[in-house]
Amino acid sequence: MLTTTKPRRCKAPGCPNKFTQYQSFVVWCSPTCGAVIAQAKLAKAKRVAATVERKADQEKRQAFKRIPELIAAAQIQFNTFIRLRDKDKGCFVCGRPFKDLPGQVQHAGHVRSRGAAGHLRFNEDNCLGECEGCNGPRGAKPHQIKAGAIARIGQERYEALENDNTPHKWKREELVAIKQKYAALVRELRSRTWTS
Ligand SMILES: [Zn+2]
Ligand SMILES: [Zn+2]
Repeated sequence: MLTTTKPRRCKAPGCPNKFTQYQSFVVWCSPTCGAVIAQAKLAKAKRVAATVERKADQEKRQAFKRIPELIAAAQIQFNTFIRLRDKDKGCFVCGRPFKDLPGQVQHAGHVRSRGAAGHLRFNEDNCLGECEGCNGPRGAKPHQIKAGAIARIGQERYEALENDNTPHKWKREELVAIKQKYAALVRELRSRTWTS
């Protein structure tokens, strides 16, 4: 029970009425306005529930995406390192120097493809500076890639790549560590290029 009898403004949106409040939970002037307020509260609760659900969905999708995203982020740093390491060596397949011209731009080419040998995607012997032309869909033939790789890393290391067929399940911490390692190497190689 309230002691005050001072007229209060009805809390229903748009209602101009004032009413005498006898009980603290009654904030409306009429049952109609009471229903309007109840509806508004229900709608708000539904919006909040929908937002909570949407957030949970987003989190689930993120957790699902996280490993491929981490692989992609690590691959960017790894490939950048390979390009910096090999920038003056020319294409490992055709031997031509890299240029900022169509077909001659430097790529980081995988000896055994990431699709066929995903476990070797971060192996430094398996990734060599290659020109855009050789790395393209109508580029180097398998025997040319093999010959080029052997010329660059030697028979023994090439065979080690060929014989490495143990599948690998990339783990979160491992991918983060790979990304950090190559980001640091990239920074080092870049600073060396600038000071020399
Ligand atoms: Zn009212
Ligand atoms: Zn080439």
